[in-house]
Amino acid sequence: MPFLSLGEGCTLKRLEQPYLYNISKDELYEMDEEAFGFLSRCNRGEVVAEGLSSDAAEFVDYGLDEGLLVKTATPESRRVVEGQSSVPSLRYLELQISNRCNLFCTHCYLGDPGVMDMPPDDVFSTVGQFEEMQGLRLLLSGGEPMMHRNFWAINERLPDYSFRSILLTNGTLITHETARRLKVHEVQVSLDGMEDAHDSIRGEGTFGKIINGIRELQEVGIAVSVATMITTANRHDLPAMQEFLAALDIREWNVDVPCPAGRLDENKDLLLSPKEAGTLMQYGFGGYFHGSTGGYVCGAHLCAMMPDTRICRCGFYADKPLGFLREGLRTCWERLKLPKLDSLTECTNCAFIEECHGGCRYRAEKYGGSITARDPIKCWTYAAS
Ligand code: SF4
Ligand code: SF4
Repeated sequence: MPFLSLGEGCTLKRLEQPYLYNISKDELYEMDEEAFGFLSRCNRGEVVAEGLSSDAAEFVDYGLDEGLLVKTATPESRRVVEGQSSVPSLRYLELQISNRCNLFCTHCYLGDPGVMDMPPDDVFSTVGQFEEMQGLRLLLSGGEPMMHRNFWAINERLPDYSFRSILLTNGTLITHETARRLKVHEVQVSLDGMEDAHDSIRGEGTFGKIINGIRELQEVGIAVSVATMITTANRHDLPAMQEFLAALDIREWNVDVPCPAGRLDENKDLLLSPKEAGTLMQYGFGGYFHGSTGGYVCGAHLCAMMPDTRICRCGFYADKPLGFLREGLRTCWERLKLPKLDSLTECTNCAFIEECHGGCRYRAEKYGGSITARDPIKCWTYAAS
């Protein structure tokens, strides 16, 4: 008698609505309470795949086809952490586990590397709270997160959690050996142009190491995405990168422009005009963590935690923390009072507002002088599209 169980890599989440989350594929399926209850019973081994009503049989067939359900000879269950998200839900947590770095990139918004590692107990406490808050994607970043003294101990425990783990790295420490030890679902490497431009920003020989790292990761089945910061050094490389990355089978290509902060303040010649930056931001593909739902401005589901456990709206707001981990992740997150889109006075009549969400609020403040201003770079992106 076959039982029904959630498919490999699937779990259930209570965000603003009930969802099934396919962690392996990073796909979210919204459903009603009845379907959620049925899947919960499947996951407790209480449903056999025979004698179902025609509606239930149709739902099950769809789930089996999509890999969201499987038939098993004995009852099986996947990890589902019961709980309820805040509203808006915290879906993406960027954990800056270390401010150490092995590079000295000329455009780094964080400035010079430090020597601070987030204590492993704080890392595990945070990710446990994030999981209970129904989080979807953990972004392990830094500095260079692989420089954390306990990085490999943290890495070992990642498969225990019911979220997708993504390593945001400069990619230079990914080798044949390290790729085989990684337990993350995805690695995002930084590639800031073709070889000459990239190496001029990130250091001689780094391009070659990253490309080698990408191949090693793909050989062991880890998804790879790429992040690119557009500057005057690589402004002409975007078409060549597009072709190059298409051949590399990259999952996502996140293209952004650096904000005038950190070391970029000393290297302002790297900054493009808003018009050129915005026009070039048409490159790239795939989702991003800074998006929004529910009528909010950018980053409605994202927060960041610094190595000293300061919890912030995002990395750019590290100097305006919501609080510290000792107060609890949920408490800090719920202090975030995000503006609504209709408060963006300069965007109100824009035809792109539902897609653009007013762009980046940090850039709006930097370039437009106010949290309710428009993001001029995004305006150029949409004007050029
Ligand atoms: S302010 Fe900018 S960096 Fe921060 S969440 Fe919004 S889009 Fe992202
Ligand atoms: S394109 Fe410009 S005006 Fe329109 S929503 Fe975006 S930032 Fe606002």
